[in-house]
Amino acid sequence: MVAFMSITIPFNRPSLTGNEFEYMRQAMGNGRLSGDGPFTKKCHAYLEQALGVPRVLLTTSCTHALEMAALLLNIQPGDEIILPSFTFVSTANAFVLRGAQIVFADIRPDTLNMDETQLESLITPHTKAIIPVHYAGVGCEMDAILALAQRHGIQVVEDAAHGLFGKYKGRYLGTFGALATQSFHDTKNFTCGEGGALVINDPQFIEAAEIFREKGTDRSRFFRGQVDKYSWVSSGSSYLPADLLAAFLLAQLESRETIQAKRRQIWHFYDEALADWAEGQGVTRPYIPHTCEQAYHMYYLLTPSLAYRTALINHLKTHGIQSVFHYVPLHLSKMGRKMGGQAGDCPVTESVSDRLLRLPFFNDLTEGEQTAVVETIRTFKPSPIELVSG
Ligand SMILES: *Cc1c(COP(=O)(O)O)cnc(C)c1O
Repeated sequence: MVAFMSITIPFNRPSLTGNEFEYMRQAMGNGRLSGDGPFTKKCHAYLEQALGVPRVLLTTSCTHALEMAALLLNIQPGDEIILPSFTFVSTANAFVLRGAQIVFADIRPDTLNMDETQLESLITPHTKAIIPVHYAGVGCEMDAILALAQRHGIQVVEDAAHGLFGKYKGRYLGTFGALATQSFHDTKNFTCGEGGALVINDPQFIEAAEIFREKGTDRSRFFRGQVDKYSWVSSGSSYLPADLLAAFLLAQLESRETIQAKRRQIWHFYDEALADWAEGQGVTRPYIPHTCEQAYHMYYLLTPSLAYRTALINHLKTHGIQSVFHYVPLHLSKMGRKMGGQAGDCPVTESVSDRLLRLPFFNDLTEGEQTAVVETIRTFKPSPIELVSG
């Protein structure tokens, strides 16, 4: 009989940096709560300057930024989109909504990112885009991916939901593809509850993006004084967040140094404190290539088997600590199978998905909590069956 304690250390807890209330109060005082107000403009300017990109547009979510990317690339029924099976459903759904066929790529066993060496074999005359996902904020092999895409005339859209302020070969993640997407969901490094951004690196997409985002109208040009009235000029939707949310987000973005320093501290604490234990247990710690500066989005462990992971999750739970697994392979989901996915298509994804465990990781996780997580893991005694590799 195991007595389950209530959770005292959750997997995630959104953290305030201090200025959120003041900025939201100002936003309320501005007499304008809707989108593209003063705080949205400040977030746009902050991100454009920080990343050195021509245009960033806040969106209501990363999911919506991905949907905008699919619209901007004019994805049509029958077009093929290559993305990792080991990702969040939105990476695929945005393109499925336009009628695209998803082609699932497997991941590398070291970084858990899309395996760039297998991409060429997945390309057909119908391939329209490759969507690298920078898993855990560690960069994909962008040189190889961009070279391949260029050779085949294929667009690259980075799903950089984990990757804000991470770098690959000295350059920010989310600045490589023609387009990239960010998430400000409350499980991400920077949040406003629900939110996202479309990063536009290829300026040819700026005008169309502004129009799709503003209900198919040229309202952005109107506000810049480039046209004397705004009207319906194309299909579109509404992807802009309220300025109230942008006010919250600006406070978070302005605390970039504090937030990233805190996350760096937590990551290295876990990594160092668990190193010898992991080695003794056959548990693998994250691998960061020397070409990458990671974004410190998460800390995960790869256990030897599914049984080991289940037992470790339960062990932590009995001590009030919440640890969670991550993506179920998209190619084996109900939708993925409809698209032709079968067991064995992406063996690394299938194995990793069974064995990956994420530890509590959020901006104000205290040192006492970090120590409790590590000490509890170190007291875990797997049974022989759980140690068998799977
Ligand atoms: C969180 C996440 C998304 C979706 O972000 P939302 O802002 O919740 O829509 C998409 N892709 C990846 C890789 C994510 O981690």
